Parts: sequence; C-alpha cells; structure tokens
Amino acid sequence: MKQRLLFLGPPGAGKGTQAEQLAKGRQLLHLSTGDLLRAEVKAGSALGQQAEAVMARGELVSDALVLAIVRSRLERQAEEGGSGWLLDGFPRNLAQAEALERLLAELGQQIEIVVLLELDDSVLLQRLLSRGRADDNEAVIRHRLEVYREQTAPLIRYYQEKGLLEGVDASGPVEAIAARITALLD
Ligand code: ADP
Repeated sequence: MKQRLLFLGPPGAGKGTQAEQLAKGRQLLHLSTGDLLRAEVKAGSALGQQAEAVMARGELVSDALVLAIVRSRLERQAEEGGSGWLLDGFPRNLAQAEALERLLAELGQQIEIVVLLELDDSVLLQRLLSRGRADDNEAVIRHRLEVYREQTAPLIRYYQEKGLLEGVDASGPVEAIAARITALLD
C-alpha cells in the first residue's frame, strides 16, 4: 500500500476534499499548504501577514516560506516515527519540487505516487465560484488558473519522467473519484 503521496491538479479539482478523506482513512499526515497558510493568516502571525495579500491576488507565496512550513511538518513526523503523508498543494513549481526532493533525501524518504486530478477549466471555474472563499472571485480564480498552467503544470511532465504520475478523472461524485484514486494505491 502506497503511503507517500502527492496530489497534483488545478485549483478546484477537489484535491483538498479527496486528500482529507484519504488521509483520515489511512492515517496519513495530510499536509495542505493552502490550509496551513490560511491558518497562519487567521492567527495573524508574521508569516500569515506576509502571505495574506499574495494569496488574495492568487499569486504563489514565496518558496522559502512554504518550504519552511513543509520542512517543519515532515521533520516532526519523521521524528515521531510516523510513516505516511499526503502532500496537497505542494510542490507548486519546479523549484519547490526540487527542494522537496532534497528534503526527502535528507529524511531518507521517497514519493511513491503522484496523483493528478484532471478536470475541464469550465467545471473548475463553476466549482470555485460556488465555493466562495476569500480568493474565489472570478478575476482571481482566472489568475490562479493561469498561475497553475504556467508554474504548476510543468510538474506533470517532471513526475511523468520519474515514472510516478497517475492521472485520475476528477469529474462526477466525490465517492466515485475517491474510488478511482483508491484503485491506484494498493
Ligand atoms: P487551490 O487548490 O484552490 O488553489 P490552495 O488552498 O491550495 O487552493 O491554495 C490557496 C493559495 O495559497 C494559493 O493561491 C497560493 O497563494 C497559496 N499557496 C498554497 N500552496 C502554495 C505553495 N506550495 N506555494 C506557494 N503558494 C501556495
């Protein structure tokens, strides 16, 4: 059973929903950089204050900041002897992917599978518009889709070349998508 997972896909593809369920069911650490950043914003920390405006514009917060968050969580989990994790929303560009690789080498760990959630732009837009989060107005959503295409989508090829990538149709009911993902993991 695969225990070190990465979820990739455009905003609105349902990564968070699927990741949360799967992580709970399999006792994996669910590491969502978006959720962690929103928690920092809510807490009003220095880090949160730095991230807030960037997130509201639909841009990516700095690699160093995101990496520091991921590093501390993965290191802590390794110390505690926890085995599995599911990264959701990270890495989001090539620099982050390379930094992750170095971090995992330090920890003696490896990604076992990268699940790509695939969905049409028109459906993504509808889903995001109905979600109503602070960064979910139409102009910002379009910008996030652009940022995804330019910065994150190149990771598809990156992980394909490593033989780690599996695509999943992310349309339809939540349970159907979950079943498609589960079928790839055992
Ligand atoms: P979505 O999947 O809908 O794009 P997320 O919750 O994953 O939403 O991310 C929301 C915002 O948080 C992003 O638009 C970005 O500003 C910031 N963010 C999340 N993860 C990262 C990351 N790995 N690197 C840089 N910024 C990030």
